[in-house]
Amino acid sequence: AHLDRIAEVDSKVSAFLHVDAQRALEQARTVDERIAKGDKLGPLAGVPIAHKDIFATDDMPTTAGSKILEGWRPPYDATVTRRLREAGLIILGKTNLDEFAMGSSTENSAYGPSHNPWDLSRIPGGSSGGSSAAVASFQAPLSTGTDTGGSIRQPAAVTGIVGMKPTYGGSSRYGLIAFASSLDTPGPFARNVLDAALLQEAFSGHDEFDSTSIDAPVPPVVEAARQGDVAGLRIGVVKELGGEGFQPGVLARFHETVDLLESLGAKVVEVSCPTFGYALPAYYLIAPSECSSNLARFDAMRYGLRVGDDGTRSAEEVMALTRAAGFGPEVKRRIMLGTYALSSGYYDAYYGQAQKVRTLISRDFEAAFHQVDVLISPTTPTTAFPIGERADDPMAMYLADLCTIPSNLSGNAAISVPCGLADEDGLPVGLQIMAPVLGDDRCYRVGAAVEK
Ligand code: GLN
Repeated sequence: AHLDRIAEVDSKVSAFLHVDAQRALEQARTVDERIAKGDKLGPLAGVPIAHKDIFATDDMPTTAGSKILEGWRPPYDATVTRRLREAGLIILGKTNLDEFAMGSSTENSAYGPSHNPWDLSRIPGGSSGGSSAAVASFQAPLSTGTDTGGSIRQPAAVTGIVGMKPTYGGSSRYGLIAFASSLDTPGPFARNVLDAALLQEAFSGHDEFDSTSIDAPVPPVVEAARQGDVAGLRIGVVKELGGEGFQPGVLARFHETVDLLESLGAKVVEVSCPTFGYALPAYYLIAPSECSSNLARFDAMRYGLRVGDDGTRSAEEVMALTRAAGFGPEVKRRIMLGTYALSSGYYDAYYGQAQKVRTLISRDFEAAFHQVDVLISPTTPTTAFPIGERADDPMAMYLADLCTIPSNLSGNAAISVPCGLADEDGLPVGLQIMAPVLGDDRCYRVGAAVEK
């Protein structure tokens, strides 16, 4: 049924970069055989999933949305991929994304943008926009994403689905093509909170192949999603994430949700996190710095594309020609920004300063979580914007991540759940729920209450 749905709608939505119907049916048969043999598979055995094309898959191409990886086939599976297979999930194909996950709209994909199923002229968010569009258009019940600076929560919000950024280190980065390693976090998309929790549980947990993986039990996310009760919980509304610059329809739905949570017995207070205003500038130094280092591996020798290698040129020339042809404009912008910020003489003023701001943001979170159990805000300042509207204005594009980025810098858990449609445009609005490090279950608990 899902393969039929893909055939029916994906020519308009463009959620997928690669679909392998035959392989999907083979996987389904294998799952049937495992069940017949009495294998104990998880609760998601046999459920189809769309997989972000930034996770290595040994049976499908992996492009990261970039021309530089066109035609590359990884020799191995990412840990997340492997765990999906072990749990019996059926990978339908790989979804579109901004090149190397750099963007908020999928317009930076080298393979063209994905479209928002609510209004095809609008963006489905990004960078995991193919994954959000696939689930919102019923091409898959579940999908995977990665959230470095909001890339799961923002696409979930603007397509009216659930998207969760687990605690950093709670889900493995092994085999995930690196953008900013201290921030990159795999997480689930689903159409309801319980499905998202089941998927997070299926691929999370300690991984010895990722040195930043947390060696602790997965928080009880499924139980929390089933519980969905907020009586007695202390909820903080972040003063700095709302107000000026936010779309009125987004704020209206947010305030209604605050009232709903109070009526369900939560104790809601306003909390101030004064350094959150510096999160965006700090992120746009730290993320490009890490990217400039991570993307040095695309040297025309090791993977994918190689340009100008006709026996007359040096390795340096081939590298320069390949990187010039293979990387898109946003990736080049970030490599230049990051290289500059890390260069000697500027390091302390830019990268070093941004790291200090990062510490202050974590301290704001710590202080807030002494007062309340979770923090809430709108997930995004506006609903989905039209494709093309912010494409030439990186600063306007970066603002889409205003509310999501603080949680990436501090590494805590955060989810986006749908909370209604904006009056002005009838488009979905997301509520963001932020919880302490390893408090992922609280995100699901509050999310489930809002969903009911
Ligand atoms: N939009 C942000 C950026 O461009 C976040 C991307 C992400 O989370 N992968 O960096």
